Amino acid sequence: MTELTPPIVDLRSDTVTKPSPAMREAMMDAEVGDDVLDGDPTTHQLEAAIASRLGMDAALFFPSGIQANQAAMWLHTRPGTEVLLEADSHMVHYEMAALAALAGVQIRPVSTTDGLLTADLAQASMRPSTWYMPEISAAVVENSHNLSGGRVMPLAVWDDLVTFAREAGLPLHLDGARVWNAAAALGVPVERIVRGATSVMVSFSKGLGCPVGSCLVGERAFIRRARAVRRRLGGAMRQTGILAAAALYALEHNATRLEQDHRHATLFAGRFGDTPGVTLVPPETNIVLLDLEEGDALDVEARLAARGVLVVRTGRRQLRAVTHLDVTRDDVELAADTMLDVLAT
Ligand SMILES: *Cc1c(COP(=O)(O)O)cnc(C)c1O
Repeated sequence: MTELTPPIVDLRSDTVTKPSPAMREAMMDAEVGDDVLDGDPTTHQLEAAIASRLGMDAALFFPSGIQANQAAMWLHTRPGTEVLLEADSHMVHYEMAALAALAGVQIRPVSTTDGLLTADLAQASMRPSTWYMPEISAAVVENSHNLSGGRVMPLAVWDDLVTFAREAGLPLHLDGARVWNAAAALGVPVERIVRGATSVMVSFSKGLGCPVGSCLVGERAFIRRARAVRRRLGGAMRQTGILAAAALYALEHNATRLEQDHRHATLFAGRFGDTPGVTLVPPETNIVLLDLEEGDALDVEARLAARGVLVVRTGRRQLRAVTHLDVTRDDVELAADTMLDVLAT
């Protein structure tokens, strides 16, 4: 007898999506060229589309969000200065201390309870300007904020930060890996969310379902310099039209369906409403954080995995589930059923 394999519902991240047949077809049909020598036409098309969508001057395609973030920080800072950012930012936890190792800067982390760096908190973190303490050379905001459970920065909070940065003379970089989710949650165009940023990183390989790619967006002169830094970091690539075609496809077909992921996250979270020993904050986007009162999240993660439901442990007693393009409403219901069962035993 063959053993029944339980179905896999993979909620570890919105990066696990696989390019759909239609996306692969778009990739196959892409017009390409050497993006170092002559330029790649499809990549140029994507860069123009992104700049226009964000209401900014110019965009540059990068192999990853981290490289785009770090190229921006390289350009915005000077060695021996500090970057002001929320203490649980992606740049703090997941970018291999590149700020220190590459840009030569130290972090000025601002602790928050909800991932939201406000102008007041930023202002309070500024030191008096003296010759014997380090200067802050740039500020970073992450929207939506991954480690706080996909929290979206309210527009008023953002606008105040833009004013703060302008008055403090700081370049303001927006880590917008999930800026598409933030825009969908607020029901405004992405252009509104990023308004006032000096530079923005957007990702295609999260909610938009592409296999690879990010863009760095900003003023024309900044992007010209970013092209050189990208090359220095080994990120200049050749026939990138294959990848840009996937992103163009995603902008048209996948950017408009993110509310569905958000509804699925809300549905999933709602299933734990009165489960004893579990607390969670209602998700604003596609990320659900479940806090367990007791036990070990690692153990729950393993028992779930054995039953075909994949989530990740984000703390000793915290699990994260992320909805995305490749999970259906039924998948989400099944995952919640399984999790309720595992938690009850
Ligand atoms: C994923 C992510 C990045 C980095 O993107 P990669 O393409 O994985 O390098 C940066 N910031 C945030 C908030 C992210 O979620």
